[in-house]
Amino acid sequence: MSELDELYQEVILDHNKSPRNFREMGNANRKSEGYNPLCGDHVTVYIHFIGGIIHDISFKGSGCAISKASASMMTTELKGKSEAEAEELFDDVHKMLTGDVDVEDSGFDRLGKLKILSGVCKFPARVKCASLAWHTVNAALKGVDEVASTE
Ligand code: ZN
Repeated sequence: MSELDELYQEVILDHNKSPRNFREMGNANRKSEGYNPLCGDHVTVYIHFIGGIIHDISFKGSGCAISKASASMMTTELKGKSEAEAEELFDDVHKMLTGDVDVEDSGFDRLGKLKILSGVCKFPARVKCASLAWHTVNAALKGVDEVASTE
């Protein structure tokens, strides 16, 4: 069985085929672009951020199934979350993808469906594909490359 057979689980295939929140956002007031040169994945994340809450979030881009599925799952999880909650989730995802942690530990309950991405850490070359969208949203929330909202 190949690496991809194991990785492309049903959820990843589904999100890749029908990515959620896959669109540009005209009224975004946070935006950031991410690029993973190892694989060639590009992603742009759009956020409509109001009163410290991610009121709406979407993404566009092109890349491998894992980068797209990860971004799609991320948008469904982050919609409605506060900046602090998003940062906590980012930390958990980062630990899950790069660290030697047991995601079944109750400390990681808030990862929910995102736990399916833990399979990626067996394949180090793919970790950056899965984490790209998360790094991009983190930059967007911190206002890096923030879209000017003067109009
Ligand atoms: Zn990739």
